[in-house]
Amino acid sequence: MRPRLHERIAQARAQRDAQSRIRVRRHVARRDGVRYEVDGHWLVGFCSNDYLGLAHQFGVVNALQDSAARDGAGGMASHLVCGHHQVHDALERELADWLQVPRALLFGSGYLANLAVVQALLGDDDVCVQDRLNHASLIDAARLAGCKLRRYPHCDAEGALRQLRSVPDVGAMVATDGVFSMDGDLAPLRELALVSRVQHALLYVDDAHGVGTLGPDGRGSVAAARLDTTAVPLQLVTFGKALGSYGAAVVGDADLVRHLAETARPYIYTTALPPAQAAASLAAVKLARREHWRREKLEAAIARFREGARKRGFELMASNTAIQPLPCGDEEHALAYAKALEAQGFWISAIRPPTVPEGKSRLRITLSALHTPADIDALLNALSWARDAIDQGFGNGAPALEHA
Ligand SMILES: *Cc1c(COP(=O)(O)O)cnc(C)c1O
Repeated sequence: MRPRLHERIAQARAQRDAQSRIRVRRHVARRDGVRYEVDGHWLVGFCSNDYLGLAHQFGVVNALQDSAARDGAGGMASHLVCGHHQVHDALERELADWLQVPRALLFGSGYLANLAVVQALLGDDDVCVQDRLNHASLIDAARLAGCKLRRYPHCDAEGALRQLRSVPDVGAMVATDGVFSMDGDLAPLRELALVSRVQHALLYVDDAHGVGTLGPDGRGSVAAARLDTTAVPLQLVTFGKALGSYGAAVVGDADLVRHLAETARPYIYTTALPPAQAAASLAAVKLARREHWRREKLEAAIARFREGARKRGFELMASNTAIQPLPCGDEEHALAYAKALEAQGFWISAIRPPTVPEGKSRLRITLSALHTPADIDALLNALSWARDAIDQGFGNGAPALEHA
């Protein structure tokens, strides 16, 4: 008998509910730096990816407004029809100059860009070898491309080598996050570059969380690992994180990038990024390149948080980036923490399966150049307080916390 889709999704939802895996959206009414008015309360946020504090930066917002007044609100058509604007070109050139690569190509989002790269380069018989903790968009990209997907244990370059050796005669790509989005640690890029070279595989680095924050002039994890386009022919830059804007670019080898521009379906069959959005990204890139103080402030925030957490007996994960997860184990524990923190005026999201593996729920604390030492100390005190409250059994749903 044919299954009823309505019944099936109702059952799946009941199961998610029983596992504390229902996701709800919160309503942000206003934002002022790291402070958010959420559902009628002001909270200090430690969950955005605006690591350099560029999303509200005056010049970035101004660039968007100026361009929108001139060029309109929309992208109007795909890049290959009449949607490719001068400012798109300027942004691509600025990126190529900053990241010291031959060419850059804009995409509507990082998600789309990942779909494009894998689809345009790999066919049905080829293999995409990926880190087990890669971002969902890379996994989906391999699935949609129809190629074989082989995963290796987290950060295990030898595991990648074994996977490549098991399929010696097909086209191969090794794809990895540069900075892992839920763990904050770095991929072993130099080892992966070596493995890729000896196996004639193409190394693709998704640097959504690295560009802007890491490496010389904020050029990202590839530059931090002292690798160039020969070793890493393609990398992903996203504008929605450290650059405070929206959209993405694939940068690297000129022939490969041209191939994407001419053949990738997620490039051809979608509306161009609005020029105003590209103008905002361009302004943000210029600031990210030269305002080193933003990275310095971010680094100071990371160091202060890690030291304070250690002093208070918290076990953090091995991350030195802006992503500082606090392991919680099961989803109830993570939710109890998030709730206790919110009661004290902090907004931090509890990350649960399927975003992370079973038993690896966590608070994903993210730091920004805009957090002051006082913000961080207050968060640390709130974390200690939340831990005590949860240990005493006032965790999930305790009314005492609601009014703290
Ligand atoms: C956020 C993210 C993406 C997707 O980028 P968007 O521009 O938000 O679509 C891709 N890869 C990683 C590692 C990310 O963190």
